[in-house]
Amino acid sequence: MDVGAEALDLKLRTPFRISRGVQLVAENVLVSLTSGEITGTGEAAPSGFYGEKRATVLAALPFLEAILGDDPLLTEDITEGFERVFHHGNAAAKAALDMALYDLAGKRLGIPVYRLLGLNPERTPVTSFTIAIDSPEAMARKAREARDYPILKIKVGTPQDIEIVRAIRDATDATLRVDANAAWTAKEAITTINKLAPYDIEFVEQPVAAGDLEGLRLVRENVAVPIIADESCVVPDDVAKMAGRVDGINIKLMKCGGLRNALKMIATARAHHLKVMLGCMIESSLSITAAAHLSPLVDYADLDGPLLIQDDPFDGVRYDSGKLVLPDRPGLGVVPREMSL
Ligand code: MG
Repeated sequence: MDVGAEALDLKLRTPFRISRGVQLVAENVLVSLTSGEITGTGEAAPSGFYGEKRATVLAALPFLEAILGDDPLLTEDITEGFERVFHHGNAAAKAALDMALYDLAGKRLGIPVYRLLGLNPERTPVTSFTIAIDSPEAMARKAREARDYPILKIKVGTPQDIEIVRAIRDATDATLRVDANAAWTAKEAITTINKLAPYDIEFVEQPVAAGDLEGLRLVRENVAVPIIADESCVVPDDVAKMAGRVDGINIKLMKCGGLRNALKMIATARAHHLKVMLGCMIESSLSITAAAHLSPLVDYADLDGPLLIQDDPFDGVRYDSGKLVLPDRPGLGVVPREMSL
């Protein structure tokens, strides 16, 4: 199998600010994987927080390509090989090839990836739409503008977190989720979440630092709002450690290395009675669609990448009042936007 890679720059519609910084463009990588007449495609959205950037993805791909072999249907063997090459890290590079393999396998068999995995496309969840950090007034305005989306995810971790949530609650009846992106200490988190609770919050994501597992437990024991781990739960090995410390985990292909590892994380989470969310980085419809194929298995989705960028080059998953609608074409079912109707 032959691998190709090219830069994919995605410009955000508006600057995307979270507690630890602001992003204007996502420097992603588009990957192609060809076997005979068939080409699968994948996308890497490297995150500096997890030690990747475009250059590390491009540098990692030849090492992963070296173990691909000739049979794209051996997805288990191949992706297990990816873990031997880079056990932890290089997750976005692995994810791009992993999803390209599933795309190739589905195209070879003439079935969509959700069908390859035995999943019911009607059971997809409704995605949240993310409101990035800004002034409380500006965030409330964006919440009003997002009236097509019944679930909003509010980024916090500022000196004005209570004002932000109050302003958004005054502006909308939407279900509200809050993501602190590791901004608080455990003590701050307990105080803040207890003040946010009256605004009817569905859950809070990653209140404390990634490594502060005892902080997660302390927060969970002292607030009435469910807690979801994101930065603390990256790869399959992390899932069991979350049991008893949080109510659920946020799985991202770009953290864990692709669909195979995401499936392992979902199964492990279920065995520990954890809720499961599927999240994303700033990604086009290509890799968001790959994640969406797994979404019939999860409780919550935050797969709004295509809604946050300008000029999405692909057509794949669509949104019906926020509900994910999977394409029924073979493989990932993603096509270049100019080829779609
Ligand atoms: Mg998060």
